[in-house]
Amino acid sequence: MNRQIEVGVLGATGVVGQQFISRMARHPWFNVTWLAASERSEGKKYAQAAPWRLAAPMPENAAAMTVDACIPGRGPKVVFSALDASVAGEVEAAFAAAGHIVVSNARNYRMDALVPLLIPEINADHLKLLPEQRAARKWSGAIVTNPNCSTVVLAMALAPLRIFDIKTVVVTTMQAVSGAGYPGVPSLDILGNVVPYIGGEEDKLETETQKILGADGGRAPLEALVSAHTNRVPVIDGHTMTVSVQLASKPSIDEVNAALRQFSGRPQELNLPTAPAQPIVVKTEDNRPQPRLDADLGDGMTVSVGRVRPCPVFTHKFVALGHNTVRGAAGAAILNAELMAAEGLL
Ligand code: NAP
Repeated sequence: MNRQIEVGVLGATGVVGQQFISRMARHPWFNVTWLAASERSEGKKYAQAAPWRLAAPMPENAAAMTVDACIPGRGPKVVFSALDASVAGEVEAAFAAAGHIVVSNARNYRMDALVPLLIPEINADHLKLLPEQRAARKWSGAIVTNPNCSTVVLAMALAPLRIFDIKTVVVTTMQAVSGAGYPGVPSLDILGNVVPYIGGEEDKLETETQKILGADGGRAPLEALVSAHTNRVPVIDGHTMTVSVQLASKPSIDEVNAALRQFSGRPQELNLPTAPAQPIVVKTEDNRPQPRLDADLGDGMTVSVGRVRPCPVFTHKFVALGHNTVRGAAGAAILNAELMAAEGLL
């Protein structure tokens, strides 16, 4: 690719919007030229409208931009969406109808049968839904989504194990507070504590995983049973999960580790700018992966797996970890857009 693609960000002032702007500040293909948010921010300079929450400084070109309203037709053809779910449904459809390619991080269209729920290493072929999506919805643009922040970690860890015929999955998450946005969970609820409930999260983990690992663009979901327990823990970044699986072909531990290590997909084949060289790293230490030590691996795009061992109830069990606001949010959507650009879909 030797041309720059202009992109916009819907919901640019929020936490995920900031991640988009920060991660694309020096992107070789994408140039952020348009920022939009609610009427609370419209007309203000981005530096005034966005309460910056990231450790990396606000990019200077973004700081000087004036925030626009989310009005279709105003921004460039390609827009990333970090909109609040209460408005994403209506706004994203209006943008797609007006010819924009919406690369969304919001939950609203993830389970829509005509919308790809994409993890480029796993189901790049689900982009084949786009012509049907356009025809059925009468959109000249399109919507593509990335999964929920915990789903992406589970799906990445399970994808290499499909060759062993996955029958049953039980997953228990320990999810970072940054996944709840800002200000998120009150400090008095989470400090020195575990909150064993995250609204809607268990259903998302179960259904999104089956769609992502399914066939025919996700319309034939993976047949395995998936049961999720989700917990919020006092960790800043990085969702950790313990997973027990029933693999019908009963592979050895070495075979499972080899499958995880060798896993690779279209982003690596195409050498996409933010694709990690190794999408899954298998940790060999007894006490890894850990969020503080491993969440940033591969600039936050690598999923770590460790402690693969026999399970006396199912066949195998292991620990998986990924960065929830990078691989689980903005980084995921940017990789989706890179894949679409490389495949000539932008
Ligand atoms: P956030 O900080 O609350 O930001 C929400 C954004 O939506 C802001 O830019 C806000 O603009 C804009 N917005 C709100 N109401 C609007 C309206 N009526 N019209 C136009 N824009 C409006 O939320 P977030 O944590 O960044 O999350 C954004 C999306 O990503 C959500 O759908 C969330 O579920 C999803 N997500 C978040 C995470 C995470 O780690 N936080 C992970 C995965 C997915 P103003 O500033 O002008 O109000």
